[in-house]
Amino acid sequence: MFSGKPLKFKIGVLIFLTALGMLAGVFLGGCRQRNPGAAGGGASGERIPVVATIYPLADFARLVGGERVTVTQLLPQGAEPHEWEPSPKDILKLYRAKLVIYNGAGLEPWVARLLPSLRSKGVRVMEATKGLPLLTFAEEEKEGWTIYVNGSGQLQEKDEMHHTPVDPHAWLDPLLAREIVSRMAKELIAVDPAGKVDYMRRAQALQNRLAGLDRAYAAAARNFRRKEIIVSHAAFGYLGRRYGLRQVPVLGLAPEQEPDAATLAKIVDYGRKQGIRYVFTEPTVNPRASETVARELGVPVLPLTPIDSLSPQERERRSDYFDLMLQNLNNLKKALGE
Ligand SMILES: [Zn+2]
Repeated sequence: MFSGKPLKFKIGVLIFLTALGMLAGVFLGGCRQRNPGAAGGGASGERIPVVATIYPLADFARLVGGERVTVTQLLPQGAEPHEWEPSPKDILKLYRAKLVIYNGAGLEPWVARLLPSLRSKGVRVMEATKGLPLLTFAEEEKEGWTIYVNGSGQLQEKDEMHHTPVDPHAWLDPLLAREIVSRMAKELIAVDPAGKVDYMRRAQALQNRLAGLDRAYAAAARNFRRKEIIVSHAAFGYLGRRYGLRQVPVLGLAPEQEPDAATLAKIVDYGRKQGIRYVFTEPTVNPRASETVARELGVPVLPLTPIDSLSPQERERRSDYFDLMLQNLNNLKKALGE
């Protein structure tokens, strides 16, 4: 991140935009004061404006909020969340929200700089991963959920794909997602108390579906004959912890660059030893390095999506979080089953 322009310049721009947003916020705030009943939601006919940064959080917010909310997904589909930064227009969307939901765990470092002005405007902010049992990438390596083929010490301070020491992909563990949904309902109730019964009912239904997803994964995992998956980037650490998988990332081993020939050779060597039958790719990430590994191994590629955003094809098919989690499960069964 912050590639292209010097860090100081970018921070300067961001501070300027924050000030601009606060200025706009004064006007918006003024409007809101003149219409105190306008944001009542539900019965009053006006929906509660909610902004969620990434796709899975927006999907959950729509399912919990139902007809009472309008959810805007801040990051465009296909955007790489680890590299994204808000434009002035995006910042205005945040100021206009009643509730802003972001993932946290280092996924959206720009949020920290906007928090004071959001709070001063009375925008409620939810950090989805707060309080969850998160892991650092180094801990995942230590526990064996992630295998870096170049050996320990390679990881150093952080996974280079994420610019953060903490693994942010909590939504890929259905039981962590359940906790996020439970807190999301409480946050919606806080901004729209009149919708309490509705939010709780919807959240309960969503939590039941997530529990069902967990049962499907757990049942399949009992029949997996191997644990090792070669993936694009280290997004599946929490999934691995929950269901006993070990991910071998092809990308994220070095900043802003594809793995070198020696690293690729080590991944191929590892894959051969483990009897890997498929190499996983991500729909929104350049598959070149993964395809090279697959070609060397003489095996096909299969998609395994981190569901941080939807590809054009997934959008066309109107896929949602549950479709993609089940698609991932089917592909895992194919790769690891009989
Ligand atoms: Zn990631």
